[in-house]
Amino acid sequence: MNPRGRRIRVGRILGVPVEITPSWVVLGFLVLWSFWERYTTDFGHRAYGIAIGMAVAATVLFLGSVLAHELGHALVGRARGLRLSVVTLYIFGGATTTSDPATPFDELVFTAVGPMVNLVLALGLWGATALADQASVPAVAQVTGEAAWLNLLLGGFNLLPASPLDGGRVVEAVVWRLTGDHAKATRAAAASGAAFGAALIGIGVLELLMVAGGLIEGLWLGLIGYMLLEGSRGERSRAWIEQMLRGKPASVLVTDRSLPVTADTSIGWLINTELLRHHVDVVPVEDRGHTVGVVLAADALAIPPEQRFSMTAADVMRTPDHVPARPASADALEVLRLLGEHQVVVLVDHDHRVVGAVSERQVDLVLDRLRLSTTPA
Ligand SMILES: [Zn+2]
Repeated sequence: MNPRGRRIRVGRILGVPVEITPSWVVLGFLVLWSFWERYTTDFGHRAYGIAIGMAVAATVLFLGSVLAHELGHALVGRARGLRLSVVTLYIFGGATTTSDPATPFDELVFTAVGPMVNLVLALGLWGATALADQASVPAVAQVTGEAAWLNLLLGGFNLLPASPLDGGRVVEAVVWRLTGDHAKATRAAAASGAAFGAALIGIGVLELLMVAGGLIEGLWLGLIGYMLLEGSRGERSRAWIEQMLRGKPASVLVTDRSLPVTADTSIGWLINTELLRHHVDVVPVEDRGHTVGVVLAADALAIPPEQRFSMTAADVMRTPDHVPARPASADALEVLRLLGEHQVVVLVDHDHRVVGAVSERQVDLVLDRLRLSTTPA
């Protein structure tokens, strides 16, 4: 599932890009606050400074455990050849985005490693707790002991057989292996995700209404249930897209195509005739029958209006090595995956001349048409 909203890239860990959304700061604050409450009210005799130190340490351990879980996914994903591993931290913890696994086994190891990381962390933290107990440092023992339980909880919750949780993707990998049908497996996992989501919302509402002081917990359960429900809807539509496009050539993803222009065509003319009138995203640039590059609509429109007639296609065009190109007969799903990493994918014929371009806007149009002409299964 993809966390919504603005993402800020904060750096790389072991080569894996790590991003946070503003909502992650809210999570950090909520966690810190609940630990703070716990350590000050449970143990009134404790000095304020120690309680603050414990709350900060417990928060760092908890958020660090979530990060370690995601890094486990990303590193194993990279080792199994999945592209574009990015870890995003947000209000519900973390998510790792990659290209789709090629085999059920890839999906299984990529998914299972996250909860395994939490299990290993739990064992390590229990070891640390035993050491701290021996050394008679109860504050440290309490923080590491609780962090160990939280890791067990994290791993266990993520193993619930409900897509998009890790457990749901384990179910997906197993059904995929048994039936050989990836789309069917995704739908099965999504259905279990939707059922769990609905159940969690139900429990949340009950807790909110029937349990004294159950407001925050009830709301939180309901929110997690809603997240599962939303996530499973996304998985379903992913399965539908896969089913619709399986075995089809990439050329079905192209709705409009532009006539080629020459390198000395002015950007103003190109915008007025090709981009605005024909609504294309890419205009091929040709020289004596050979494609020498493409002008992306976004690049052309970024030029200030007063400069558009003094600049030419040659000034803004991207050469073939800067835009991924695939044969028009290539697999539509493969081109769609490539589009996840690039703004646009150019389709070429056997003479390497551009015959069309696939962009997100075009894909949305194509899928809308398919949706109108079929009923999603
Ligand atoms: Zn996970």
